[in-house]
Amino acid sequence: MIETDIIIIGAGPVGLFTVFEAGLLKLRCHLIDSLPQAGGQCSEIYPKKPIYDIPGFPSILAGELIDNLMEQAAPFKPGFTLGEAALSIEKTADEQFIVTTVKGTKHQAPIVMIAGGLGVFEPRKPPIDAIVDFEDKGVEYIIKDPSIYQDKVCVIAGGGDSALDWSIYLAERNIAKKVHLVHRSSSFRGHLDSVQKVIDMAESGQINLITEAEVTGLSGSGKLEKVHVTHQKNGEIVIDADHFIPLFGLKPSLGPIADWGLEIEKSAIKVNTLDYSTNIPGIYAIGDVNTYENKLKLILCGFHEGTLAVQSAFARIHPEKKNVLKYTTVNGVQGF
Ligand SMILES: Cc1cc2nc3c(=O)[nH]c(=O)nc-3n(C[C@H](O)[C@H](O)[C@H](O)COP(=O)(O)OP(=O)(O)OC[C@H]3O[C@@H](n4cnc5c(N)ncnc54)[C@H](O)[C@@H]3O)c2cc1C
Repeated sequence: MIETDIIIIGAGPVGLFTVFEAGLLKLRCHLIDSLPQAGGQCSEIYPKKPIYDIPGFPSILAGELIDNLMEQAAPFKPGFTLGEAALSIEKTADEQFIVTTVKGTKHQAPIVMIAGGLGVFEPRKPPIDAIVDFEDKGVEYIIKDPSIYQDKVCVIAGGGDSALDWSIYLAERNIAKKVHLVHRSSSFRGHLDSVQKVIDMAESGQINLITEAEVTGLSGSGKLEKVHVTHQKNGEIVIDADHFIPLFGLKPSLGPIADWGLEIEKSAIKVNTLDYSTNIPGIYAIGDVNTYENKLKLILCGFHEGTLAVQSAFARIHPEKKNVLKYTTVNGVQGF
């Protein structure tokens, strides 16, 4: 059981900044995120895009903003459970919440802050009949640990940056024994540099590029052994392969949180703007995941919401103490 003061569900920019604001009040935080890395949409969708509306930063790359937020939170030693979606929540007789992830990791705290953004990112799965049977037996939708592909034959499918970049990565570093990249069109959606690199590597034989084709079947006994590709002109090609990695992007959905008894409106959690509390005392919702009149899904608004929510959380945890606002310029940052 991981015990802390505040369980934050979602390690996006809002969850990360909330660690800092909670730390100033001497409250410890533990973050849970279904993605393998912190940063939410900033890391997953647009790490290389500049953001122009973060106060004090005329321009900052989304990935850099996350690096800075991690650095800012570091003195308060947040814990992380990454790569595991928060699945269920229960309240104990002594007013503690227990949040359990899909992998069974349990976390206990008197306060839960949901900073779940657009929700859990779920992979877009191609419509192949047998695909579910081969999940974790050769089929992966996200590359978490490239070393598992060492000396393996990999079939990657997709036409965006993920498919291109991972094909290059696994082939260029001689990780995979062979990389086949299958894409249904002859043009790609990824960065021009990456597209050109894949074409060059295909010409030099480092990648087997199969365009105008789709993976339509998978077979094997107990684990993946063959990937069946249907080419628009040449018919079926069967590839002996250890892994099939369809990289068609991730789609967000509120996920398990939708069943926690919270008041939901248009796939977002209704909150009281006094302190961003939900209808369940002790549970707050901050950032993109919440809704209220005039809500703006902006990072700076989420920072404000997290700041006010931790003040309210402090009053719940320490009803006997009066919290007096102290400027960081006066008090500095006293880490744990
Ligand atoms: C292309 C693009 C450009 C943008 N540009 C700007 C901009 O210029 N300025 C701006 O202010 N905003 C911008 N935004 C919006 C901004 O990214 C969001 O407002 C911000 O990411 C919200 O932060 P968050 O922490 O609330 O949620 P998110 O960043 O969505 O993070 C939420 C995290 O919660 C996790 N999660 C959800 N449910 C669970 C669960 N059950 N268990 C475990 N983890 C869970 C998710 O995996 C995710 O990592 C942009 C968005 C996009 C897509």
